[in-house]
Order: sequence, then structure tokens, then C-alpha cells
Amino acid sequence: MDLTIRKAAIGIFIGFLAILAEKARADRYCPKCNFPIPTFRLPRTFREFFWGDWRCPECSTWFSRTGRTLSE
Ligand SMILES: [Zn+2]
Repeated sequence: MDLTIRKAAIGIFIGFLAILAEKARADRYCPKCNFPIPTFRLPRTFREFFWGDWRCPECSTWFSRTGRTLSE
């Protein structure tokens, strides 16, 4: 493979990762009160660990991994 093409491929790959990281970070806000959620939060329950659900520490609303509000 030509060196220039390889460099371009690496650049595209890094750009792709940056877009993914930005998207993941944008999802780390409470949909209800916009409280920023830490990327690495310690799961307090088995459900949080297993499903990735989380409770907003600010407004105490349960959310699923995808950001949907969960009914209790
Ligand atoms: Zn909240």
C-alpha cells in the first residue's frame, strides 16, 4: 500500500473515533435536567451493572442505557 494512502486511512480512522467519542459524550447528560453524568460511574445495583441503567443524582429519574425514562 502507498504510504500516502496509508496515512490518509489512519487520518480517517482517527477522525471516525473522534466522532464516536463526541457522540458518546453528548449522550452523557440527563435528558430531563441536563445534569452531566460521569462517563465511568460505579454501578450501585446489579441492574445498573447489567443493563447500564442509571439514576440521575440531580432529579432522581431512572433512565435506560439509551436515555429513555423508565417507569418504576
Ligand atoms: Zn436529571
